[in-house]
Amino acid sequence: MLRVACASANPHKVAEIVDLMGGVVDLVPRPSELAEVVEDADTLEGNARLKANAVCIATKLAALADDTGLEVDALNGAPGVITARFAGEGATDAQNRQKMLVELEGIDVPQRTARFRTVALLRFPDGREVVAHGVCEGSIALHEIGDRGFGYDALFIPTDGDGRTFAQMTIDEKHELSHRGRAFRALAQML
Ligand code: IMP
Repeated sequence: MLRVACASANPHKVAEIVDLMGGVVDLVPRPSELAEVVEDADTLEGNARLKANAVCIATKLAALADDTGLEVDALNGAPGVITARFAGEGATDAQNRQKMLVELEGIDVPQRTARFRTVALLRFPDGREVVAHGVCEGSIALHEIGDRGFGYDALFIPTDGDGRTFAQMTIDEKHELSHRGRAFRALAQML
């Protein structure tokens, strides 16, 4: 099996990636001594590439990175590429969710449409890349519901689901529908 270094250090995301890709590649953790990569590209793909390149160069292994953005229609597609720091540099998930609820105050359910978009990128030491995309359409709940998951999970109701937020779903239910599940399944098919 191809040995692949995981570019993410976020334990929630790593657990999801191991679940999705563990049967396809031999995933090794991101070296703990490696400095965090500054994600200052202006696209999701650009940020995924920055992370994969840094880990690929440091480990001399193929490296797998992903970057995700949440696009909210009532906010003209924001926060998009700045989803992780919507409430400011270093913001916590809880602060980002709170900011989202404040920004959407007074906006009714039908106008709260949104989507998660993920780019998954595998970079090989010889410079080759495989890039896959995953999109999950949904809407932003009126308040937080559920206590599983991470990030905006307690606010995101996928359109293809049964009305529950991602934070109310098991990890398998989430993978079935999620942006990351779709992107990594597409990537696995391309390998
Ligand atoms: P990243 O690119 O995966 O680091 O994610 C960027 C931002 O999107 C962070 O604020 C994450 O918490 C959020 N995010 C990414 N994936 C998910 C998800 O599956 N559910 C909820 N929030 C997510």
